[in-house]
Amino acid sequence: MSSSSARPASAAKPLVAADDRHRLKLAVQRSGRLTDDTLALLHAIGLEFESYGQRLFSHCRNFPLSILYGRDDDIPEYVGLGTVDLGIVGRNLIHEEGVEVEELLPLGFGYCSLIVAVGRDAPFQVPSDLAGCKVATSYPNSARRYFAELGSSPEIISISGSVEVAPAMGLADAIVELTATGSTLMLNDLRPIATVLESEAVLVANPASLIDPARRATIDRLLMRVKAVRAARRYKYLMMNAPESALPAIRAVVPGLKAPTIVPLAEPGWVAVHTAIEEEVFWESIERLRAAGATEILVSSLEKLML
Ligand code: ATP
Ligand code: ZN
Repeated sequence: MSSSSARPASAAKPLVAADDRHRLKLAVQRSGRLTDDTLALLHAIGLEFESYGQRLFSHCRNFPLSILYGRDDDIPEYVGLGTVDLGIVGRNLIHEEGVEVEELLPLGFGYCSLIVAVGRDAPFQVPSDLAGCKVATSYPNSARRYFAELGSSPEIISISGSVEVAPAMGLADAIVELTATGSTLMLNDLRPIATVLESEAVLVANPASLIDPARRATIDRLLMRVKAVRAARRYKYLMMNAPESALPAIRAVVPGLKAPTIVPLAEPGWVAVHTAIEEEVFWESIERLRAAGATEILVSSLEKLML
């Protein structure tokens, strides 16, 4: 007996009635480096959907959005052609495909760089030294454009995998390839000499979807949520006690989003200061706050932050 026989047909229906004029389509990578962070972000902004296994398509139960799972290489074209309204993909692929899409927001994951690298002992120091040489890459358009802008035109050899071994195999003098930590380059005795592009995962939109008022309104709702989650990740919430006399020095360290909240304490001459602080300068600021006279510093994470 098939296990699906117990499932009523209505269970597959979305809880929110689908209004196709408003229902957006978002393409994401089905399985790869961007997948976990992408799905985590979509769940963090409150979307409810199934994302197990090899499914190609999910409907959100609580937001007018359908999610399409695909190869990351196909996402720029899907968005460019309007097959989907939105995509989450590495900026490197948008740059490579040269499609007409709007970058709405960098997403803070999938960081990597498209770099020019040469053999560790090769005589090349700068990209223009590669004039007349062979450059292997799986990013031929980006590479060609980059060298053309430098007024140089090495021979670009387009290969789709294991680009890093091309110099050792004598196939090329240099490569243009993605790197995140540089470890694969080192493993292959390669040395980076220039950066073509800094990349991270980005939310991109089809330009026509942005003009359509109904779609635009739903995209804006989605954007507001993503921005709130991203802002919350950037900040910590700080509460501390301090003598009133320390306030000017404390304010100089933590200006707060607008200004810190200052609450008098039962103890005369003492106040509690509440403020948000950027993660990036967190430890440095804590040290300066303690030096300024703050005590009992309490730190908590924020879940959402609407600026
Ligand atoms: P698919 O099967 O979807 O075509 P893929 O193997 O081509 O996947 P991944 O290796 O999963 O792609 O990389 C997806 C994206 O992750 C890249 O386009 C890039 O934006 C980003 N990325 C982050 N770090 C790296 C890295 N070290 N090497 C390659 N890509 C990276
Ligand atoms: Zn790919």
